[in-house]
Parts: sequence; C-alpha cells; structure tokens
Amino acid sequence: MRNLEDTYRHKGLRNQLVQQLKQKGITNEAVLNAIQQIPRHFFLDSAFDKIAYEDRAFPIGEGQTISQPYTVAYQTQLLQVAKSDKVLEIGTGSMYQACVLAELGAWVYTIERQKKIFDTNKTFAFKNKYPNIKCFFGDGYEGLPTFAPFDKILITAAAPFIPPKLVEQLKIGGLMVIPINEGNSQRMLRITKVSADACKEESFDLFSFVPMLTGKKL
Ligand code: SAH
Repeated sequence: MRNLEDTYRHKGLRNQLVQQLKQKGITNEAVLNAIQQIPRHFFLDSAFDKIAYEDRAFPIGEGQTISQPYTVAYQTQLLQVAKSDKVLEIGTGSMYQACVLAELGAWVYTIERQKKIFDTNKTFAFKNKYPNIKCFFGDGYEGLPTFAPFDKILITAAAPFIPPKLVEQLKIGGLMVIPINEGNSQRMLRITKVSADACKEESFDLFSFVPMLTGKKL
C-alpha cells in the first residue's frame, strides 16, 4: 500500500534531503528543485514513509530498487537536461527518475524489462501529473528504434558494456549517461556522440546499481 498524501512534514524532510544533496556536491538548481517538488514517499510502500527521504536506495519488489536520491541527482545533472529534450531512460523501476526528468520538462520514454513492475506503474496515479512520460515494456538493450533519435539517453542499471543500439539511437551532439561495471561497482560514464561514428567518453565516480539484464521477464 502506498500513502499518496503529501504533508508539511514530508515537505520538511524533502528540504533536508535537498540540503544534503547540495552538501554532497549537487549544484544544478533545476535538478534540486525537481527533487524538492516530487514526493518520493509516493513511490514506496507506506512502510517506508518515515525513511523515504533518507539518502539511500530502497527495495521496490521483484528484487529491484528505487535509486538513491544522490544517484538520481548525479545522473540527471550529468545529463544536462533541457526543456523539451527527448530522453530515453533504461530501467523504469519505481518511475521516480522518470518523474524527475519529466519535472525538468523533458519528453520521457522509459523502458522496463519486468512485466510486474511495468504493470504496477500503469496504476500509479501520481504519474498522471506527467503526460510527458511514455512507459514501454521491453529490453533496454534494444532501445526504441521507432522513436529514435534521442537527445539524451540515461541508463539506470549496471551495464556490462555500452549497448551499440543505444549509441545508434542517440542524436549527433547527444549525451548518454551510463554506469559501466568496474569490479564490484560501476563507473559513471558520459558519452557524447560527436559524429555518426565517433563518441567522446568522460569518466566520473563509482556507484552501485542492480544489473542491466537481457530480454524481457513476464
Ligand atoms: N530508474 C529507476 C531505477 C530502478 S532499478 C528508479 O528511479 O526507480 C533498475 C531497473 O532496471 C529495474 O527495475 C530493472 O528491472 C530494470 N532493468 C534491468 N535491465 C533492464 C533492461 N535490459 N531493460 C529495461 N529495464 C531493465
């Protein structure tokens, strides 16, 4: 069960979370504002209500997690989202990251490989606030060729390599933010597609994600 009531107490906790994210080095005001606006406790079972604004990941069922707010803020900041950007997200999960992107004014296309998670999201009333989010059930390694090209691509699961089909579906000049396996954690990379056949790669901090798996799960 979820608690879909947003109280002053929740808003106060969100304020504190935003302050923590600033202290940890998040500077993009639009990103901080989106986190301030979105009631993260809506995305979790009501059992997590009191701790929903701690800066940590939580289980959402099916062995999956809602990412840590710092990770969401970090990836979103690297993605340099501009209003009306077409953004492809791999790994819908709780939809929290998708809502952050939508709050920034992006057109969000998000793919989830687990049918149960995809179906749960269909009945999540809060998402109706964001008609700019389209959810798809599928394998993120394939992307969404019908809707390509994208200005930005964000991968929210641990990838073993940079999926070539996703690079193909990125606009020239577009950015991809992707956590790539390195030992037991993942190195955050930002890929810029500089021409039809060349990319520039920048390397950032280490994070910990659930794995990006192949194929769909019914
Ligand atoms: N962005 C999410 C994070 C969820 S965790 C959030 O804000 O809550 C990662 C999600 O990626 C999981 O739900 C997992 O099922 C999904 N996933 C893993 N591999 C995938 C793939 N190949 N295609 C699509 N989704 C995938």
